[in-house]
Amino acid sequence: MDTDQACLFCDIVLGKIPSRIVYRDKDVVAFEDINPQAPTHILIIPVRHIPSVLEIEETDSALLGHIYKVVRQLAHEYRLNERGFRLVINSGPDSGQAVPHLHFHLLGGRKLSWPPG
Ligand code: AMP
Ligand code: ZN
Repeated sequence: MDTDQACLFCDIVLGKIPSRIVYRDKDVVAFEDINPQAPTHILIIPVRHIPSVLEIEETDSALLGHIYKVVRQLAHEYRLNERGFRLVINSGPDSGQAVPHLHFHLLGGRKLSWPPG
């Protein structure tokens, strides 16, 4: 996607929209969710605009492995490794995906109910 097309999370990556960034490298950015659903609620996103899980390519395997490494690092930093956490990717209208830029929700710090709503 062209960066001058509107995408909230591309704008966060570019610093055009302020956010509380907790991790950044050239391929991955993580920031606090503006409307947290748990004591820890972080969004982990690829820098590259990938609209959803459906647009992940086989050539993205290294990127995905890297995202999971960042998830592990954040899980330890926020001590979520001790009691557990949930990693959520919404995809498409029925899931309630609101921002069409792939993002992993890292949720923890409280008991999470199952099944999700
Ligand atoms: P989803 O419904 O899976 O697309 O999740 C989108 C998430 O982005 C929601 O949890 C929102 O609270 C969050 N969000 C929306 N705008 C911002 C923003 N400006 N900064 C941080 N998080 C945001
Ligand atoms: Zn984007």
